[in-house]
Amino acid sequence: MDVIRAGVIGTGFIGPAHVEALRRLGIEVVGIAGSSPERARPKAEALNIRKVYADWRDLVADPAVNVVHITTPNYLHYPMAKAAIEAGKHVVCEKPLAMNSQQSAELLRLATQAGVVHAVNYNIRFYPMCQEAHARAARGDLGNVYIIRGSYLQDWLFYDTDWNWRLEPELGGSLRAVADIGTHWLDLTSFITGLRVQAVLADFRTFIPVRKKPAKPIDTFVGKELRAEDYVELPIHTEDYATVLLAYEGGARGVMTVSQVCAGRKNRLAFEIDGSRLALAWDSERPNELWIGHRDGPNELLMKDPSLLTPRARDFASYPGGHNEGFPDTFKQLYKAVYRYIRAGDLTVPPDFPTFADGHEEVLLCEAIERSAREQRWVEVEH
Ligand code: NAD
Repeated sequence: MDVIRAGVIGTGFIGPAHVEALRRLGIEVVGIAGSSPERARPKAEALNIRKVYADWRDLVADPAVNVVHITTPNYLHYPMAKAAIEAGKHVVCEKPLAMNSQQSAELLRLATQAGVVHAVNYNIRFYPMCQEAHARAARGDLGNVYIIRGSYLQDWLFYDTDWNWRLEPELGGSLRAVADIGTHWLDLTSFITGLRVQAVLADFRTFIPVRKKPAKPIDTFVGKELRAEDYVELPIHTEDYATVLLAYEGGARGVMTVSQVCAGRKNRLAFEIDGSRLALAWDSERPNELWIGHRDGPNELLMKDPSLLTPRARDFASYPGGHNEGFPDTFKQLYKAVYRYIRAGDLTVPPDFPTFADGHEEVLLCEAIERSAREQRWVEVEH
């Protein structure tokens, strides 16, 4: 395949992040598709994209598109990914991969049988300091992993007037905070340690049981101008908060807290991993620093600087020390790995990016966590 071209379905928050990252890599974005051509057109103009497809199926069918990026609400991932695979396209799908494990298992099977490259957008792995933590763990720096602790906290659903499709289970899924942000934390910490979760014990809470939904669709940020009569009240059944105890293979233990109602925590993923030799800690709001904890000497704070990183992590840092790399860069680094793999064309090589197998694993974890919260007991993950 000489020239590899992409098409992006979804033009909301994260679709443009895909477009920008692809272009930084010199990959042509043939066109985009949104919920309607009318809504997609201004987005296309802002991004200087010439082609707006009337329907996402036209994008999938376009012979000029080799790779389909899916950045739509969660319930659409399965039909869109399935159609793209059936059209012989490589697929980069947003997380969570699907609404349940039947769907995610089927997507994994179909993509494997079709011989297409498949990726799930667990982009947080691609912060250089997360790659560094992975490389150091893989060479044994941590020793035996004892404890994997941390949280993913946000405040964008803090008020009862905060509304988004993620609050509607038929669009977002029956889990909210756990599926939306918890799976990022679980994917990242398993990637770093190489350990899979075997069993979970979960506690959920919905602190805002009734929310006010705008009676008509509104653009982002216009919500502040609405009056009381512009809302309808709706009961909420998904979790604002969850804490999950984790039992890993090999005996490590963990605990993860996720919440979308923590004032002041905008989008903060943090982990600490305690091993028998040292500890590693990272905070996504200070992403260019990796903390290394020692018992018998001063702790270290490693700043992102390619000259100080292991060779593997260095490959995912584009700028010299002191030149910070952040959220948009993670998309670029992830697609660099995916498109390099597509270009190489050898699907027998283990991919160095999250695939549908990882996406399926996260959906299995979600199902175990949901069951545990419902039944208030430890639940084994059905790998
Ligand atoms: P959003 O609501 O801002 O955007 C969703 C987009 O999907 C909109 O452009 C909408 O027009 C489009 N869409 C809806 N129905 C469609 C249809 N039938 N055909 C074509 N397009 C359609 O949502 P978002 O925050 O961008 O989230 C989208 C996905 O990305 C979700 O699965 C979410 O979990 C994921 N996401 C991932 C990250 C990350 O860091 N990896 C961050 C945010 C969102």
